[in-house]
Amino acid sequence: MKIAILSRNAKLYSTRRLIEAAEARGHEVHVLDVLRCYMNITSLKPEVHYKGQVLTGYDAVIPRIGASVTFYGTAVLRQFEMMSVYPLNESVGISRSRDKLRALQLLSRKGIGLPVTGFAHRPDDVDDLIKMVGGAPLVIKLLEGTQGIGVVLAETEKAAESVIEAFLGMNANILVQEFIKEAGGADIRCFVVGDKVVAAMKRQGKEGEFRSNLHRGGSANLIRITPEERAAAVRAAKTMGLNVCGVDLLRSNHGPVVMEVNSSPGLEGIEKATGKDVASMIISFIEKNAKLGKTQTRGRG
Ligand code: ADP
Ligand code: MG
Repeated sequence: MKIAILSRNAKLYSTRRLIEAAEARGHEVHVLDVLRCYMNITSLKPEVHYKGQVLTGYDAVIPRIGASVTFYGTAVLRQFEMMSVYPLNESVGISRSRDKLRALQLLSRKGIGLPVTGFAHRPDDVDDLIKMVGGAPLVIKLLEGTQGIGVVLAETEKAAESVIEAFLGMNANILVQEFIKEAGGADIRCFVVGDKVVAAMKRQGKEGEFRSNLHRGGSANLIRITPEERAAAVRAAKTMGLNVCGVDLLRSNHGPVVMEVNSSPGLEGIEKATGKDVASMIISFIEKNAKLGKTQTRGRG
């Protein structure tokens, strides 16, 4: 097969591993910098150009689109979909997962376990917002945050009120969430490929830290997940319409709750913590599923 990887940097661990795995299985792989792709959207003849050439003959495209280039990146991917090239994840699924509110709304509609969550832009009654999610302690998140930055634990209602007011004063969209204390500063990353969790790791925040992000000093270890957790992760992936994703769960005393679904999950952490060859599993999934025109939306939506 001829496979394109949409990635801004061929040297990143995840990109390198995907190239390695694809080449080892006899495929031809090209890394395309998504921002350098340009497009012709003439009626009925969609094309993608790259460095003066028209791209043709691709069987599959693997999107590894960074959060900062979601808008342009998904447009390029949609163009490949319109050309009937099989996308590992469709543009629609990626857009859904990048918008945290949209993602939570979709998951809640399907009855998937979630922390009790409220979101707000400029509420007149902050007290009511706090009560709505069960009062303090609670977690307040900036919608645009990643790597744990912009996630705050407010232990008391007074603290919650002042943090919420500070964020709202900055005109930010925020999410207010029940604090899952019993998670003990840990979360579980389930790596989903197709309809299976192929690897799972537990990330534990450093001493005294409720955030488990590796960027905040957390550590990762192999973990055995329960059938209920497995089912929740697979359902979350299906709901988002993603073939490959990282589903982050918290172990709450009302069962597993989904915190977020990542459509370009990194391979380094999960491969090192579990010793599994996740890159080859992804390529093997593409081999089984990539057929021209098999993209469900063909760029619709
Ligand atoms: P980011 O997108 O910045 O990683 P997350 O929503 O994943 O933000 O939150 C960062 C970390 O904070 C999570 O990995 C988890 O360990 C912890 N955390 C987030 N929300 C909650 C919550 N409601 N209850 C307990 N811990 C939480
Ligand atoms: Mg996170």
